[in-house]
Amino acid sequence: MDYENFFADTLSGLKAEGRYRIFAELERHAGDFPHATHYHGDTTDAVTVWCSNDYLGMGQDPRVLSAMQDAIAECGAGAGGTRNIAGTTHLHVLLENELADLHNKEAALLFTSGYVANLTTLSTLGSQLPDCVILSDALNHNSMIEGIRAGRSEKLIFRHNDPKHLDELLSGFDRSRPKIVAFESVYSMDGDIAPIGEMCDVAQAHGALTFLDEVHAVGMYGNRGGGVAERDGVMDRVDIVQGTLAKAFGIMGGYISASRQLVDFVRSNGAGFIFTTALPPALAAGALTSIRLVRPDNDLRARHQERAATLKRRLAETGLPVMPSECHIVPILVGDARLCKEATDLLLEHHNIYVQPINYPTVPKGTERLRLTPSPIHDDGAMDELIDALLDVWNRLELKKAA
Ligand SMILES: *Cc1c(COP(=O)(O)O)cnc(C)c1O
Repeated sequence: MDYENFFADTLSGLKAEGRYRIFAELERHAGDFPHATHYHGDTTDAVTVWCSNDYLGMGQDPRVLSAMQDAIAECGAGAGGTRNIAGTTHLHVLLENELADLHNKEAALLFTSGYVANLTTLSTLGSQLPDCVILSDALNHNSMIEGIRAGRSEKLIFRHNDPKHLDELLSGFDRSRPKIVAFESVYSMDGDIAPIGEMCDVAQAHGALTFLDEVHAVGMYGNRGGGVAERDGVMDRVDIVQGTLAKAFGIMGGYISASRQLVDFVRSNGAGFIFTTALPPALAAGALTSIRLVRPDNDLRARHQERAATLKRRLAETGLPVMPSECHIVPILVGDARLCKEATDLLLEHHNIYVQPINYPTVPKGTERLRLTPSPIHDDGAMDELIDALLDVWNRLELKKAA
């Protein structure tokens, strides 16, 4: 086997399809988000970032930064081991208590990322619950898909956000058989939102556990930032809430929040929890501070929603093909991988605006798009520049406008 040739050929294929990923080399500037320095070749440019998942700009909040600095000064750099081997610090315990309280659950469990939280929890439950079957939304995130696959239980896929189809599929199983319904609240590529209450009604009627990924909602929805389940008044209907500390909370790490027994079960059996070093205490300290700041701040949530609504309205007024979205995420349809990449290259080279192209396999072919994430710190001036730049790029590439 000529390994190097194999790798090179595969990469050429990606390039030919226009979906080879090139990372923009950026340096974010705390205190000056959403601005960053773009490094390319021997030069640098000041750019505005329009696609960050640091949705609320908490990654630069001075109170969060100082909590992290204090924790480094007091506790040092790393956690010192897995949670079992000296890695459970006071800050980890405080953070888990905070997360349990955020979701009105008995307990919570930290993981090194949201990805690992999904992978570990679903694979552990899927493999350990006797004869378990998992029902998974057709558009679930890769981390859930991989978790379900790793658990090797039976798996069925229901049509996206379709409680009726879920009901049909569940009807094929004995009520006593263990089942998990796995879905997300906010789907971050289309910006649509699951009917959580209806999904829980169906799951409950069939005796299934519900597993809800609220990664794109925690901090941003609900009266205390508990997510869409809180907003919809159905938090107590969801058995397992999964979230991240990396998006609205601006740091890194993931978690689940659920009953004491379930959390203890995953803590005691989940390989992706047991066999890896705990999050550094400084990350736990930063996340704890960030959550405590975001929880009561309904003004911040209102400003975030206002920015998203304003951008959607203004894009629609100019005829740019903004896709329908029920949340803070603003997708614009391009419909072709190569053009999508060219559009984002032009935005960066000619307008110093950074948006990354969203191509297959993240979204279906023919629906390639730009995905904008306006935050409370993107002001009207930045929005003017963005819209002018998009119109210029749409003209240059003769992209389709709204029908
Ligand atoms: C980002 C994301 C994750 C993973 O979270 P990380 O903390 O970034 O690992 C999980 N689920 C969904 C839907 C996501 O978009």
